Amino acid sequence: MINYSALLDYVMWRNTKKMIKVVKFGGSSLASAAQFKKVGAIIRKEETRRYVVPSAPGKRFDGDIKVTDMLYECYRAAEKGEKIAGKIKKIQARYQEIIDGLGLDLKLDEQFAEIEKNFIAQAGSDYAASRGEFLNGIVMANYLGYTYIDSAEVICFDENGNFLADKTDEVLSERLKDLDNAVVPGFYGAKPDGSVKTFSRGGSDITGSIVAKAVHADIYENWTDVSGFLVTDPRIVKDPEVISTITYRELRELSYMGATVLHEDSIFPLRQEGIPIHVLNTNA
Ligand code: ADP
Ligand code: ASP
Ligand code: MG
Repeated sequence: MINYSALLDYVMWRNTKKMIKVVKFGGSSLASAAQFKKVGAIIRKEETRRYVVPSAPGKRFDGDIKVTDMLYECYRAAEKGEKIAGKIKKIQARYQEIIDGLGLDLKLDEQFAEIEKNFIAQAGSDYAASRGEFLNGIVMANYLGYTYIDSAEVICFDENGNFLADKTDEVLSERLKDLDNAVVPGFYGAKPDGSVKTFSRGGSDITGSIVAKAVHADIYENWTDVSGFLVTDPRIVKDPEVISTITYRELRELSYMGATVLHEDSIFPLRQEGIPIHVLNTNA
């Protein structure tokens, strides 16, 4: 016998349940104030886009340098005992350009003073690289008016640097459960002693999928500079076709083989929960 009352309750719950999307934006999507404005418009267009995972500012043009690479380079200089004030200034200028272009009332002087001090104190190259996302998250949260969460508090690694999926899920879901909106920077977390640990390069995709799992998102949107997952890398073959639908398994295999549009480790948490991934183009 069908229990119509229970069925009706379920249908009502499905209809009123607020849909949740987790949206991750890659470096090219956040390379400048103009790109931030596109991203802001995308997020504001749908109130379901509640949790935002930003990367560090990427290349603004061919030949430009990603902030993450500037940070690695600056840290290498610090390790050699070279003066880094000029390099730090250049990195700060990347953020200042965005802040000014967005007309935000935000200063990052204190953060940069602390970063310079920690570089000189040899805080580690993971710490160094992670500051790209750490700072871009602050800018993004300020721009959107969303709560900022430092990923060092919610993305957990063990003392050997292995990612702790279950602990992270517990800590992160607890932290997000009463927040309508939040910005969680990509790419890094911390070990039990508080020292910063990053994922491998391109790892903001992983943070996005971990956040999607923690909030039981309906969809994980991965916003980048291509209109979907393509049959091949467009840097190698011109205008490849879009693969409209792909299984998690095929996607993981292709990512593993070098389709870098999605980090291979970002697929597992989504597959566990059956969360669909949409690869979308911020510029289209
Ligand atoms: P983001 O900064 O948004 O994370 P990435 O540079 O990491 O972007 O990934 C997007 C890039 O991945 C594309 O510009 C494209 O050159 C490359 N790419 C490689 N393989 C594929 C593929 N199969 N489909 C789409 N893009 C691909
Ligand atoms: N900013 C980091 C990198 O350049 C992480 C990422 O972009 O996903 O690798
Ligand atoms: Mg990427």
